[in-house]
Amino acid sequence: MVNRRTKIVATLGPASSSPEVLEQLILAGLDVARLNFSHGTPEEHKARAELVRSLAKKHNKFVGLLGDLQGPKIRIAKFKNKSIELKEGDIFRFSVKHPRDAGTKEVVGIDYPDLVKDCSKGDELLLDDGRIVMLVEQVTKEELICKVLIGGILSDHKGINRKGGGLTAPALTEKDKQNIKLAAELQLEYLAVSFPRDASDMAYARQLKEEAGSKAWLIAKIERAEAVMDDATLDGLIIASDGVMVARGDLCVEIGDAELVGIQKKIIHHARHNNKLVITATQMMESMINNPMPTRAEVSDVANAVFDYTDAVMLSAESAAGNYPIEAVKAMARVCLGAEKNPIARRSNHRIGETFNRWDESIALAAMYTANHFPGVKAIISLTDSGYTPLIMSRIRSSVPIFALSPKAETQGRATLFRGVQPIAFDPAALPESKVSQAAVDELVKRGEVSDGDWVILTRGDSYTRRDGTNTMKIYRVGDLIV
Ligand code: PGA
Ligand code: MN
Repeated sequence: MVNRRTKIVATLGPASSSPEVLEQLILAGLDVARLNFSHGTPEEHKARAELVRSLAKKHNKFVGLLGDLQGPKIRIAKFKNKSIELKEGDIFRFSVKHPRDAGTKEVVGIDYPDLVKDCSKGDELLLDDGRIVMLVEQVTKEELICKVLIGGILSDHKGINRKGGGLTAPALTEKDKQNIKLAAELQLEYLAVSFPRDASDMAYARQLKEEAGSKAWLIAKIERAEAVMDDATLDGLIIASDGVMVARGDLCVEIGDAELVGIQKKIIHHARHNNKLVITATQMMESMINNPMPTRAEVSDVANAVFDYTDAVMLSAESAAGNYPIEAVKAMARVCLGAEKNPIARRSNHRIGETFNRWDESIALAAMYTANHFPGVKAIISLTDSGYTPLIMSRIRSSVPIFALSPKAETQGRATLFRGVQPIAFDPAALPESKVSQAAVDELVKRGEVSDGDWVILTRGDSYTRRDGTNTMKIYRVGDLIV
């Protein structure tokens, strides 16, 4: 059986919320559904979450849920007539005092009072994900007066970034705080924080989600220039999170497209090195919003993210609002599987020559080393409570599937995002201690994943010691009696 290792995250929206489409997305290989709190009502998100869970159950699959907080994206207010057209050389003003619903061709309001403090003459402002570019020519107490460098249509509520970053609104808004409560109520497995500046923003998000009773793992979206300015800030953000997202939409606007791809590789490498998850996001299959087939460049982008060893690739508008959401998931699944055949995606020098920090980490990495060097090994079984051991295992490149066997729904849901890991519901509580390993191997035989003569590696905690967590690794030949 060939199992795809790289996971697919797809954003749900109007194009993908009907039971019919959602069911097809799940059958096409959706691993994690993203609820984008920038759009839609709490009721819509709730309905989508429930539908995902019931359809996944119907097909005996696990689909994780990721809530994505809107964050403090700075946006312009509204125009009198919804939009305006700007031409190169036009003079245009952003005003903190102008009425919020009465923008014109000359001026628009903005809900961020510090804009005039944060910006100065010579700054470049990017609107609508960089489609429109302006140069700040003058700053007054209430306004930025700008010259249009690249024109176009500008409509209500478009986002505004500064090239080089530094528009520093605090990372969590009142709306985000409400949505953290919603994430707790919906028992989402993942929660993404938008525009965190540094580790302290993540620590604050962690405190809020814990107060709300959420067990979600936190994903820091790397999308500000400050976040990647130096290694200390980037690593601080990574370590303060359970995973990160290479949020290329906003990140590209802030740092420019020339540096973007190198930074993507660096973020992925640093995340894995710190035992954290990483999602590569935005415009991966952008042309599929309108076309049933990806471009060669998009195919190449997805495959290269697989070679970079991302845990997951993500669809945004393609699945949320596009015309071909199912085709987009299928195309991603196909391209990931193809790329994974390449030896680059299988060999590993991960942390060779380094010391390890924990005993469970040491067992996890030893299991992978064995699996990668003993060709008879067809599967790795991790009996896991929190999912931590399979997470560590999956930081290493390999072509051997890792099965995370856990009785906990939250762990099963979480492992959907780990590259190379497949969750299996398995509850050893009713079995005598001596029968657990045999039952785990039997489970894989029953599923057709391994058969007599194959070797499997099994890791588990030894409940006779006082240390919690995984502390043993054994290698078995399927068909032999396990004692
Ligand atoms: P967004 O984040 O889709 O919420 O903007 C991802 C990105 O910026 O790439
Ligand atoms: Mn973003």
